[in-house]
This record gives sequence, C-alpha cells and structure tokens, in this order.
Amino acid sequence: PGAYSAETARQDFPILHRTVNGRPLVWLDNGATTQKPRQVIEALGAYYSAANSNIHRGAHTMAREATEAYEAGRAAVARFLGAPTPDSIVFVRGTTEAVNLVAQSWGRDNLGPGDDILVPVLEHHSNIVPWQMIAKETRARVVPVPLTPEGEIDRFAYADLLSSRTQLVALSHASNVLGTVPPVKEMTALAHRYGAKVLVDGAQAVAHFPVDVMDLDADFYAFSGHKLFAPTGIGALYAKPEVLAGMRPWQGGGNMIDSVAFGLTTFAPVPHRMEAGTGDIGGVIGLLAALDWLGSFDRDAVTAYEEGLMAYAQQALATVPGLELVGAAPERIAVLTFTLAGQDPAGVADWLDRDGIAIRAGHHCAQPALAHYGLESAARASLALYNTSEEVDQLVASLRQLQMASG
Ligand code: PMP
Repeated sequence: PGAYSAETARQDFPILHRTVNGRPLVWLDNGATTQKPRQVIEALGAYYSAANSNIHRGAHTMAREATEAYEAGRAAVARFLGAPTPDSIVFVRGTTEAVNLVAQSWGRDNLGPGDDILVPVLEHHSNIVPWQMIAKETRARVVPVPLTPEGEIDRFAYADLLSSRTQLVALSHASNVLGTVPPVKEMTALAHRYGAKVLVDGAQAVAHFPVDVMDLDADFYAFSGHKLFAPTGIGALYAKPEVLAGMRPWQGGGNMIDSVAFGLTTFAPVPHRMEAGTGDIGGVIGLLAALDWLGSFDRDAVTAYEEGLMAYAQQALATVPGLELVGAAPERIAVLTFTLAGQDPAGVADWLDRDGIAIRAGHHCAQPALAHYGLESAARASLALYNTSEEVDQLVASLRQLQMASG
C-alpha cells in the first residue's frame, strides 16, 4: 500500500484540536459518529452562503446548480459503492431509514405468511426492529442466526436456516459492537441459491474498507453519511436496478410523482419515486465533499493503517488489569468493546471523559449481541483513520489509573 499519515489527516479536523475537561480531545466514539473534515464543513458553508436552492422544480440558475450538485452526489455515491448506475442510489436520512424503506416497500410486496427473514444475532437494532414490524404485518417470521463464541455468524447454522421460505437475509458488513466482518459475498451467494434477497447494512463498514456492491452481489446496501465523515441526516440506499424498478413508493408527496390528479396519480421513475419531498440537499453536498476527501487517500493504505492500530490497541488494552475484550472474530474492524472487572461501563466512560477521552458505554443498540455474552452493557472504543497510537496509549493509561484508584 501507498503512504498514509494519520497525523496529516488529523490536520483536516478542527474538532480534533479542541479540549474536553481541560485535556486534548481523544475521540474514540467513531462507531457512534465520525468527525468532519474542514472540506466538508466548508462545502456546507459555501452551499448555504452562495448556492442554496431547492432542486428539480425551479426554472432558475441556482435551482439548476443545486440539482446538478445533488445529482453529482448521487453519481459519487454510486462510484463509491461500485454501483452500476447512479439511478440505483436512493438518498435517505441514514441506515435506519434505508432499512425501513426496504421493509415498508419491498417487504410489503414480497413477504407473507410462512416466509423467513434471516437476521444474525449480531445486528444493530435498526436491522432487527424494522423486520419485526413488517413481519408482524405480513405474518412472516424473523429468524435469528446464532453466533459462535468468537462473535462470528455461525455459518453452519446459517446454511441450515436457509430454505425456500427465506425471502431475505439482512446482515451487517461490519458489527458496531463486536467489529465482526462476516463473509458477506459467500453468504450472499448462498442466499441467492434459495432465491432470497440480501440486504447489507454498511453503516460501520464504509469508513473502514472499500466496498463493491457488484462484487458482493448485494441486492440492497445501506449506509449513513455521518459515520463516513459527512453530516448527519444524509445516507444512501443502493438497490439492484431490477429490484428497485419493481418497488412501490413508500412515502408520497412532491418530487416523487409524474402527474397528479384526483382520478389518477402516476409516479416518477426510480430513484426519484423513492424520494418524496425536499431532501437534505446540503447533506448531499456535504457527503460529496466527504467522499472526495476520502477518495484523496489510498484506501488500502488507510485500511492497513487501521489494522495496525487495531492490533496495537488489542495488545495495549490486554495490559490493563481486569480488562476483557468482548468478541474475538479474526476478521474485524477497529472496534474494541470491553468490560473492566469491578467497574460499571457507564462509570468507565465517565472516568475517561474526565481525561478528555470519548468512548461509548451501554448496549450499543445491539442488545441481542451483548446478551450472547451474558452482558447488558459494555464499554466501546471505536477507532477511525485519524486516531493514533498515542491516543490508544492515553486510553490505556487512563484505564490503568482507574483500576489503581479503585484498588
Ligand atoms: N447499523 C449499524 C451497524 C450501526 O452501527 C448503526 C449506527 N450505530 C446503524 C445501523 C444505524 O445508523 P443510523 O443511526 O445512522 O441510521
């Protein structure tokens, strides 16, 4: 891989230079959201200062400019995901909305009594609850796919659970709590043998390694901009063109129609049919800037850097008395979920916060995954491309001090 310097990348993030509780910020809560480079912040500022307009409808210069920028964002997302065409990309608020869109649109027409939706125990609540809701309405079943002790999807159980009843497999490309990266391509190929569709939740994956939806052969792929150095409120859903073409609109309103009459309303072609109302135009501009920023790096070099940092962090954390990492999948992103003997996870997060170190404590919206380990709550440090080994050292030093202070 080419050269990558986290120190250089950090220079683009104004927020990484602030202090918290009198200490330099150490942001290790990237699984919750990533920070934004100045290129994104400046793109938002430039848009709202000089280019703000609604799109599509207006017959004026700025409406045309905004439309072009919005559609350039769609094309950039398509390139980023390796999608065959920009028309296979639907803008949404984020991963949660993408999953709900598929459940409410595709699910309503393709699920029925006796049908199965396979969902690994690993999943984020946003890739469980929308399926439970649509299953209840359509009388389909949500079937959990168990995990191994390491926190990988049990591949034998998965193969056993697949059947001609399976309509959908919904799984994450990377777990937000264990970091596990399952063999999505192989699992997708297997699901397709049964005629099932596959939805991949890429919320945690996209910032950590390059994604190619054509190679995965995924039917749906969802991600959130805010976990990818872009603003909150914008995300994308990729759907295979032939699948998307057959999907009914899930919300009605402006922008998504061809013509409206009280007698008969017809809809616009996809993807616009799926984007009712005014979208987050500024968010798309910010996402475009984030993709440009990320695209300025050698992605393989970034992944290699993160892998090195992860290995370093695992070794360093192992030296903290009483610390146990949760999950041990060999293939995983830089997510370190842990328990500390004698400490409540919320107390650990509080202690670290006093040292300016931001981690997350709680159930991480993945209660079944934690329950697999007999836990209700855990602490999680999640790393991004701008984190450094010095920051890991600070985390470890602060945790050691906590253990010493508690005797
Ligand atoms: N899936 C995974 C794996 C996640 O980590 C998250 C966010 N924590 C989501 C889905 C939901 O993303 P959002 O809240 O941005 O919709």
